Amino acid sequence: MKSLVVLTGAGMSSESGIKTFRDSGGLWEEYNVEEVATPMAWENNKELVLRFYNERREQLAEAKPNAGHTGLAALEKYFDVQIITQNIDNLHERAGSKKVLHLHGELTKARSTSDPTLIYDIGYRCIKIGDTCIKGSQLRPHIVWFGEAVPMMDDAVRLTENAEIFVIVGSSLNVYPAAGLIRYAPRNASLWLIDPREVNVPDNRNVEIIRKGASEGVANLTEKLLNIYGIKKE
Ligand code: NAD
Repeated sequence: MKSLVVLTGAGMSSESGIKTFRDSGGLWEEYNVEEVATPMAWENNKELVLRFYNERREQLAEAKPNAGHTGLAALEKYFDVQIITQNIDNLHERAGSKKVLHLHGELTKARSTSDPTLIYDIGYRCIKIGDTCIKGSQLRPHIVWFGEAVPMMDDAVRLTENAEIFVIVGSSLNVYPAAGLIRYAPRNASLWLIDPREVNVPDNRNVEIIRKGASEGVANLTEKLLNIYGIKKE
């Protein structure tokens, strides 16, 4: 099976009712990202940061994977699919994708503020001031905030270096280092980008553009890939 690596961004979940933030002028679900998704925000106002992520978690409990998510999961019948997502939701997993790497963390996990190795599954429950790890330190969302290091980046680079097909879905390619991943795709890899808007691709790599939303775009990609590789649809 050919190895297919898919980098997904906020646009992937837009048809599931979860808003992107570039589309609304730097706001993320009506919040200014600087005030809720940075280490400074956490220093200044923990209540506000926790409320923002608690609301996102509540919203996620109600959201459902869209046809784009299920379409990528279905590609596992024909390709060795690895998802690398910038999204903090769990919609890829719920759609059935087996290999999902979360570059920017996961909403359904909390971690200790004193020991980053202490990570807890919290499902859709809230994190409150006073909720602590076993060492007694406050819990924070298990999220990579703007300005923080991206610990999963090395794994993402290694996976991208081995891609035979590399696809980007619903990312403005504005948030680094994730946006630079495409640079690591081998020269002979087949590159695709699905997004309803124009996106600037780093390094002017030769990318096949599908200018559609995630659901329609993934269906279109599937047809094209099966055709190119002469695979019969199951
Ligand atoms: P972004 O908001 O910067 O860009 C979103 C992209 O999606 C745009 O290019 C837009 O044209 C495209 N888009 C809009 N509707 C679409 C659709 N129906 N189908 C396909 N594409 C569509 O997103 P980003 O590049 O992922 O960067 C945002 C950061 O914010 C990420 O780091 C992510 O962690 C975080 N974020 C996550 C979520 C989530 O988890 N669902 C939601 C918002 C933001």
